[in-house]
Order: sequence, then structure tokens, then C-alpha cells
Amino acid sequence: EFTINQIAAGEVVERPASVVKELVENSIDASSSAITIEIKDGGIPFIRVTDNGEGMDQQDARLCFERHATSKIRSSDDLYEIRSLGFRGEALASIAAISQVEIFTRPRNSLSGTHVINHGGNVISVQEVGCPEGTTVIVRNIFYNTPARLKFLKAPRTEAAYISDLVAKLILAHPEISFRYINNGKAVYHSSGNGDLLSAIISVYGRDVREQVIKIDRSDDKSGLSLYGYLGRPSLARMNRNHQSFFVNGRYVKSSLLSRSLEDAHRSYLPLHHFPWAVLHISIPTSQVDVNVHPAKTEVRFRKEEEVYSLIFQWIRETLEAHPY
Ligand code: ADP
Ligand code: MG
Repeated sequence: EFTINQIAAGEVVERPASVVKELVENSIDASSSAITIEIKDGGIPFIRVTDNGEGMDQQDARLCFERHATSKIRSSDDLYEIRSLGFRGEALASIAAISQVEIFTRPRNSLSGTHVINHGGNVISVQEVGCPEGTTVIVRNIFYNTPARLKFLKAPRTEAAYISDLVAKLILAHPEISFRYINNGKAVYHSSGNGDLLSAIISVYGRDVREQVIKIDRSDDKSGLSLYGYLGRPSLARMNRNHQSFFVNGRYVKSSLLSRSLEDAHRSYLPLHHFPWAVLHISIPTSQVDVNVHPAKTEVRFRKEEEVYSLIFQWIRETLEAHPY
């Protein structure tokens, strides 16, 4: 039986990495300071996200799988949230519709927690249990009831690579949160959550990166644009753009405009066909940026493209000139 939830699930759940993204975003929304992500075999049979956030009481835990069961304020300053309002309260319902989900959750200072099992969108059981404060969501056997979609997944190692990339971006986006990422029982990343972007970078790229980066920290009062982060020295340059991470107002984005300003500023600094390494946080008034309405998309558009391009180009150029290789 093909339910409306299974159809809607396609909007949110494309692959295991999209499940991880939604679960971690919920953990972040619940003000967690520590989040653990564990996967097995590319996340297809097993994903577990554990947080130390606000948790849910029994009623919320029972209802969180209902479509539009969002507890989040609908008038938000976060443009991304406003843009994806149509998708608010869809994620857990969509994930449960195509998998076997288990939740353990306990609100802070509450004496007991709740354990909920949901298979294919149907609540199987709700029980009071003892469990740590915060929330653990386990998602098993993605697409077990939609074999046609299961067939479209790639090999476990490829799906795992999508998840690893995603977790790396989440770590770089949130230096204030401690992340642990475990793939097939092996610890891959562990960030301290001490708030320092360079520590977050080191937890993803390793200690050697410290000597190969240049800090950049600039802002422009008139436009409200600011740029903070690290540029890689030529030793970090690669033949592709995989190591360019841009965050706009705290969200990971892809932007050809940002890539172009970064690359143009590096012209004559790098060998031919090499792309600069960079981790850059851009903040800009929300009125000056537009994001694609689909929650899974990460493309941004700037209202004043010329201004953003030239400020960022100029800041990077000046930084490179002040730090001769
Ligand atoms: P949304 O995030 O858009 O509100 P979701 O379907 O992702 O919708 O989640 C539904 C609701 O379940 C959330 O609004 C929140 O109240 C609750 N919830 C989900 N995950 C967590 C979590 N990790 N900690 C606390 N509450 C959660
Ligand atoms: Mg959500």
C-alpha cells in the first residue's frame, strides 16, 4: 500500500544522508551541546543519532511522527526556516514512513523517559522507560517497504561517504557543538564543541592542517556582510572543489558566486587546475539572501551579487597579499 506519507517521504528522504541531516538538525534545534552519529553499512540498515538536548515528554514523543507535528515557532527570523515552512513537521513522519524507527527520549529534569517504536509510519508501542536526558533516534532498514527506492541507493561505502561529508560540514558549521561520528564501529570524527572554528577544522582535517591555513576575519558595516574562517595554503589545494566549505548564516551552502570569488582571488597563487581549500562563514542580513525552497537543496542566491562578489574577492585578495606563501 502506497500511502501519502510514503509519497511525501520522497521529498525529504532521498538517501541515508538525508535521514542523518534531518535527525541532526532536530538535535541542534533541541539545543544539544553534544551529538553522536553512528551508522552501519552506509546507514541503510542502521542509523543512530543521540543528543543531550531538551528531549520530549510522552505526549510529544507519541505525536512527533504525525505530519506537521512541529513544535517549532512558525514566525522565525531564520530565512531558511521560513522558506521551508511548507516542510515543517514533515521529517520524522517521512522517515518513519519508509523505515523502522525507535525513539528514546527524556526531557531535562524529568524522572522517566519514553520509548516509541514506529514501523512504516505505524506506532507499534509507546512505553515509559528509564533513559538518559535527551533523545536517541534509531532508524533501521531505510526503504524496506519501498523496494523500488531501495534499488536506487548506491553501494554502502558510497552512501557512507555522503554521510561522512555531511557530518564534516555539520562539524564545521557548528564549532559550539561536540560531534562524534562512528562508522561501522570505527570513530571517524570527534569535535570538542569548544566553539573554536580551527579546532573544528582540525577534528575533520587532522592536526597538520594548522600550519597550512590563514585566518580571515573581515566585515563591512554598510552592507552588513562579514567573512570569517580559514584559507588553505597551496599545499591544501586540490584538483576539485570538495574542500571548499561555505556557510551562510550558519548553514552549509553551495554557491557558484562564492566559489568564483574565492578562486578568482587565488588566481596566480595556485598551479593551473588547482582549486583553493577554504572553510568560510559568511554572515549577511537575511533580507539580502534567497534560498531554494526545497529543504534538501543548499543553493543560495544573493540579492546584490556584484557587491558580495567584490567584497569577498577583495578581502581574500588582501589576506593572501598580507601572507606571502
Ligand atoms: P520539525 O523539525 O520541522 O519540527 P520534525 O518532523 O523533524 O519536524 O520533528 C517533529 C517534532 O519532533 C519537532 O518539532 C520536535 O518537537 C520533536 N523532535 C524531533 N527530534 C527531536 C529531538 N532530537 N529532540 C527533541 N525534540 C525532537
Ligand atoms: Mg526537523
